[in-house]
Amino acid sequence: MLTLFKNARVYSPQYLGSKDVLTGGKSILAIADHIEPPAGVDVQTVDCTGLWLVPGLIDSHVHITGGGGEGGPISRMPELQLGMMLEAGVTTVIGCLGTDGITRTVESVLMKVKTLRAQGVSAWMYTGAYQVPPPSITGDIMKDIALFEEVIGVGEVAISDHRSSVPSVAELTRIAAHARVAGMIGGKAGIVNMHMGDARDPFKPIHDVVANSEMGYRQFLPTHCNRNDYIFKDALEYGKKGYVDITTSGWPYYQDEEIKPSTALKLLLEGGVPLAHITFTSDACGSLPGFDPETGKLIKLEMGLPSSNLREVKDAVLVDGVPLEQALQVVTSNPADILKLPGKGYIREGYDADILLLDAGFNIVHLMAMGKMMIR
Ligand code: ZN
Repeated sequence: MLTLFKNARVYSPQYLGSKDVLTGGKSILAIADHIEPPAGVDVQTVDCTGLWLVPGLIDSHVHITGGGGEGGPISRMPELQLGMMLEAGVTTVIGCLGTDGITRTVESVLMKVKTLRAQGVSAWMYTGAYQVPPPSITGDIMKDIALFEEVIGVGEVAISDHRSSVPSVAELTRIAAHARVAGMIGGKAGIVNMHMGDARDPFKPIHDVVANSEMGYRQFLPTHCNRNDYIFKDALEYGKKGYVDITTSGWPYYQDEEIKPSTALKLLLEGGVPLAHITFTSDACGSLPGFDPETGKLIKLEMGLPSSNLREVKDAVLVDGVPLEQALQVVTSNPADILKLPGKGYIREGYDADILLLDAGFNIVHLMAMGKMMIR
């Protein structure tokens, strides 16, 4: 079955103009000013007049088997459901464990990746969790990354946080070195996804690793860089050398502490951080607890959703004035490039047919994943 998208305003994420896009099987076959449906072949034609055609979104930090748990058993969050991805325009997720690397396992994350793939979307994962040494499938993060096609790196390893294992510089250096070499062997990015906590001078452990080893800043992808004003201030400097990931699902729950993600993108760009260094992730299926400031009692509990990424891209464009083709990069080509995701992140011939069609209000009109229409 071929699908022909007619007269779409194509953002690859670069703006290509008004184009027709032809897909067949799981791939983008052709992009041109005018494509005629081939005779004698079954073609579904989709009129895209007035719509933006953009790459299916990539959400590269999602607790796909359910996160949370730090507020006790009641705060364990459920697994990601396919519909939560699709209604967010997301066609690729990277799964990970978080605080709870004890009762949640890397094996179950691997099986959930396989489930999502069987449901028609794309998924990869990090081995490990907050803890050091990181939990793994084989007992060795190097073997996990080198041998399992689904495993692209290690994470989220917690630093600068009371919930971390308080890893030493030597321990972090070894994790980064092993991720790097295993990535080379397995043809992966071998990235270490770092959970950044609330401690002061939060990037110091990464600076120490880079200063005392052969590791470079691009071995690390620190997340939650907008969690408070002082980490964000440091991220404005750090981002000139390394990658900076902004978490979107905490907004508006923690608006007293966090920098709004859309505004964070604008400020990072104004501060001279290269656009290619910036990503947005939802941290979906993580818990968002609220505590009574007087008694410390849990008084509310929400769950992060993948839809926060598209919401913040929308606000970046409509409220903060970031051009659409720049805002799109933080959820498409940037994670694909940083994490070396094959066939992902671009509207290009030969790439996977992951295609999102939006109206000018950022409403999802159609969504295709791996060549199949998931939303019409
Ligand atoms: Zn985290």
